[in-house]
Amino acid sequence: MRSPPETSQLDTPSRILMGPGPSMIAPRVLRAMSTQALGYMDPSFLEIMDDIQELLRYTFQTDNEWTLATSGTGTAAMETAIGNLVEPGDTMLVPTNGYFGDRMGKIARRAGGDVVTVDAPWGEPLRPDDVADAFDEHQPDVFGFVHAETSTGVRQPDVPELTDIAHDHDALVLADCVTSLSGVELHVDDWGIDAAYGSPQKCLSCTPGATPLTIGERAREKIQNRDEDTGSWYLDLELIMEYWGDERNYHHTAPTTNFYGLREALRLVAEEGLENRWERHREIAGELRQGLQDLGLEPAAEMEYWLPSLNTVEVPDGVDDTAVIEFLMDEYDIEIASGLGALEGDVWRIGCMGYSARRQNVACLLTAMEEALE
Ligand code: PLP
Repeated sequence: MRSPPETSQLDTPSRILMGPGPSMIAPRVLRAMSTQALGYMDPSFLEIMDDIQELLRYTFQTDNEWTLATSGTGTAAMETAIGNLVEPGDTMLVPTNGYFGDRMGKIARRAGGDVVTVDAPWGEPLRPDDVADAFDEHQPDVFGFVHAETSTGVRQPDVPELTDIAHDHDALVLADCVTSLSGVELHVDDWGIDAAYGSPQKCLSCTPGATPLTIGERAREKIQNRDEDTGSWYLDLELIMEYWGDERNYHHTAPTTNFYGLREALRLVAEEGLENRWERHREIAGELRQGLQDLGLEPAAEMEYWLPSLNTVEVPDGVDDTAVIEFLMDEYDIEIASGLGALEGDVWRIGCMGYSARRQNVACLLTAMEEALE
């Protein structure tokens, strides 16, 4: 028989999380998550799910009935959306300007879709003219884009223009709002977005595990009229909605404490007010951006498409990017991250999300950065 391994009681270091996620968990969310479990059909638990749906409709700015939390991380929501929207033989258009647009394409291919691309350099947003050209050339059924590209720190502007192009071509629009939801202006219905997912662990300052997803009427119609079932049973939205909707059929055991935490995180959004929250992110991240510039560091994303929740700054010539990251962690307990994919080694990624987006964190980070660069 194996003997039990020797471990110590959980004792994690106290970090300031200013990386690309997770962000620091809001204390009220932590408290909510230490609440005792309820059964997945307990009427009190079902009420919690109803609250989550209503709070998510506010946070996404949508009336979509199919608004829920997927059991899993952001990628599970991405896979749920794509796996249900893309049928074998469908064409999906995805961007090439970042790591997560590329992931959309990989998932669409596994769903049996033909993947075509609209190009923009890493570090720049998509241009509406290029999207229109890609539509004329490929006539895609689904267009996926990343509203807030965490690998480049770029916010996609002109969203209504992009959705108009897609709708003129009878296509559905899927938006990755993982790094924008509740931190950056987003209006799912007014902007004509057919389906969108967010993340609990970025601007919502909750733990990963229960991920916001919303599906509009056109998208829902397509899902309900598929020729064949989606390949994944676990991520089949029609089955999942039998649990979230009036039927209340068991599908899988909900991640109880994640739902408690998400509900509290969304209540914090509602209390602060979405517009105030967007403004707080702009203000605090604006101080960060300016402070970094005062240290001689250049932002990698233009102001026109700056993403307050994720700031990319260029690594100056002759500076070892990982040495700086290690210094911040070792000396100040601050987490930031290096570039991802094509920008590896070229930029640092500094998050300013949710509960982490506070002046005291920015001041501490700027002090640490100044010392690291000396
Ligand atoms: N999309 C974007 C824009 C992301 O930044 C991430 C993760 O950081 C994901 C999708 C995937 O989310 P997760 O890592 O929670 O599965």
